[in-house]
Amino acid sequence: MTFTYQAYRDMLLLLQESGYSFQNYDNYQDAPRCVILRHDIDYNLEASVKLAELEANAGIHSTYFVLLRTDFYNVASKAGQSALRHILSLGHKIGLHFDETAYRTQLTLEELSQNIIKECGLLSALLETAVSSVSMHRPSKTTLESDLYIPEIVNSYGKTFFKDFKYLSDSRRHWREPVLDIIRSGEYSRLHILTHAFWYHDKDQSLFETVNTFIHSANQALYHQMEENITNIAEIGLQSFDI
Ligand SMILES: [Zn+2]
Repeated sequence: MTFTYQAYRDMLLLLQESGYSFQNYDNYQDAPRCVILRHDIDYNLEASVKLAELEANAGIHSTYFVLLRTDFYNVASKAGQSALRHILSLGHKIGLHFDETAYRTQLTLEELSQNIIKECGLLSALLETAVSSVSMHRPSKTTLESDLYIPEIVNSYGKTFFKDFKYLSDSRRHWREPVLDIIRSGEYSRLHILTHAFWYHDKDQSLFETVNTFIHSANQALYHQMEENITNIAEIGLQSFDI
């Protein structure tokens, strides 16, 4: 499967044709044959908006997991608010993408649970919507194996979503298993598919191209932010970065 919007659209169509109902973490029990689409937003919100629009146009809803403690984007900024509220307005859900490495010390399971509850509350307040599911970003082995129970929050890393579901992921821009063949085979009645919008484009791009373009775009965006904060930035000899 290539990393293009068309290929993603085709995968959604194949899921529909194969009889999978699109469910979320709260209502998957309503459908005997279902798929949960999960998106972890590791680097930028804009790419997720595109995938969210594509899904909504296909009449499909999914869950976008958002980092609170990241240097890549800001949930509270004007741009961050606009992107996430747009995703919500399309009918998708927002979950918390939790990065335990953003904490100064290794968290105990109790601290992990407490901080997930705290971050869900913060995200919920910032977006004025319920945030009741969590996925882990760069989880430790202990966290992965813990089957952590968090009151009133669905842990997408819990055993249910790995044991009762067939889990498929495009992590590091690589499907470890042939996702389309698995869908087509109809072998599994429950699928849990993780994709990262960051990897998808109109035309297939290599890992190098994707990351390189992102870094250059970030420079450009930073320049424009400085431009808004420093009067006549060109006068101090700085020109817009070429991308
Ligand atoms: Zn992640």
